[in-house]
Amino acid sequence: MQFEPVIGLEIHAQLKTKTKIFCSCSTEFGKSPNANTCPVCTGMPGVLPVLNKQVVSFAIKAALATHCTINEESRFDRKNYFYPDLPKGYQISQYAMPIAEHGHLDVDSMALGGTKSIGITRIHMEEDAGKLIHDSARARSLVDLNRTGVPLIEIVSEPDIRSAQEAGAYLRKLHAILKYIDVCDGNMEQGSFRCDANISIRPVGQKEFGTRAELKNLNSFKHVEKAILYEIKRQTYILEEGREVVQETRLWDPAENKSFSMRGKEDAHDYRYFPDPDLVPLIVDNEWIATVEKQMPELPGKKRSRFISQYDLTGYDAEILTSSIELADYFEETAFPLKDKKQAANWVMTSLLGMLKTKKLSIGQSPVSAGAFSKLLLLIEDGSINANAAKTVFEQMAETKKDPKTIVKEKGLEQVSDQSELESMVLQTLKENPSEVNAYQGGKTKLFSFFMGQIMKKTRGKADPKIVTKILKINL
Ligand code: ADP
Ligand code: MG
Ligand code: ZN
Repeated sequence: MQFEPVIGLEIHAQLKTKTKIFCSCSTEFGKSPNANTCPVCTGMPGVLPVLNKQVVSFAIKAALATHCTINEESRFDRKNYFYPDLPKGYQISQYAMPIAEHGHLDVDSMALGGTKSIGITRIHMEEDAGKLIHDSARARSLVDLNRTGVPLIEIVSEPDIRSAQEAGAYLRKLHAILKYIDVCDGNMEQGSFRCDANISIRPVGQKEFGTRAELKNLNSFKHVEKAILYEIKRQTYILEEGREVVQETRLWDPAENKSFSMRGKEDAHDYRYFPDPDLVPLIVDNEWIATVEKQMPELPGKKRSRFISQYDLTGYDAEILTSSIELADYFEETAFPLKDKKQAANWVMTSLLGMLKTKKLSIGQSPVSAGAFSKLLLLIEDGSINANAAKTVFEQMAETKKDPKTIVKEKGLEQVSDQSELESMVLQTLKENPSEVNAYQGGKTKLFSFFMGQIMKKTRGKADPKIVTKILKINL
């Protein structure tokens, strides 16, 4: 029997506010344990939460970017649970009336051969919990409440996703968009963007969904895709054996490349949700939405179309260059002073991305800044160096961060474009290779690159290929 996976993703994105959602404690990462705490976020009795307005504005921004309907009135609820890292004994979240609903995200992926719209069920705001540090050597656990009360939005997708690859595409797109709109730093290692994946399988053709498992602890795109593939296999094996999938929460272990059961599924009502009496209903009027709308930047889809028309790029190239806001900005800054925008795009996509990949760096960490890259490409445009030499210079820039002009001088890479110098070199080359000249004139035009190669050898790769081509054509 053929099975089809059904997948829905829940994303927790930490919002980039300076302060927490219900108190004025800093959200800064990496402070000493419990440095960022106060009576509100440590759950002291008698204190009152005050909603951070910026959190709401960021949630509205995310809602607009994902085509959600924003509810004029929404509420905060208490989700009751024994949380060792949340001293109040409940998490303030939005349950019955979230801030936004009914959105979608168009995921375009080459692999899917087009665009697919993935429904977004809801976006709601909530506070994060703290962190337990297990000190096994001394058989004790410590609690750090710095993260307690840090604002999150949870973005819940419809079960519209049908493969691990589609899940990856959705996740990458959502991640890119949250960074474009600048509401989340997207740092997956620090937990700023986390994913829980709900997965079930069903016989192809069946309408009803199967029983799902929820996978937690997926802190990289690769882990999500691997974990989903594993889960599909695991469930297929169970059904093929005639057994039943049980609804449960499972933990992904990236070291072992497998998941294991963490707990059975607790029912929603076990949380005893009820409206938080300390917080009034939240009213978001049209004026507020309009203000946020004005702050919306150009989103990936629009940027992609603009790149195609403004820089004369192919759809594929524009897709790559707009895949993250950092890359798009880097490209535009590099291309700005240059005549040949397409050339700039090619260099960014090949040399820059290649270098970052080998060095395992993000664009923000690039040893070659966009400004320095422009300077290098300007040296090609003004004829100072040829593309060959530019590659060497780029490698040097990545190693030493030196100015391209300095490297050109140090390495003696200036392009040889002196007409008479090149002319005498060409004539000599032809003299030295009479049989090749004969063969060329007899119709073996492929030998042109042989002559070009000889001259490049003589100039140690520095000849201006355009001028050499001209002189060769005249003399052959
Ligand atoms: P809970 O709050 O218990 O996690 P939800 O109804 O909010 O449950 O669903 C959470 C996620 O699970 C959503 O992304 C939804 O699309 C997905 N989902 C629900 N049912 C299934 C199913 N049978 N198979 C796969 N995903 C599912
Ligand atoms: Mg869930
Ligand atoms: Zn606090």
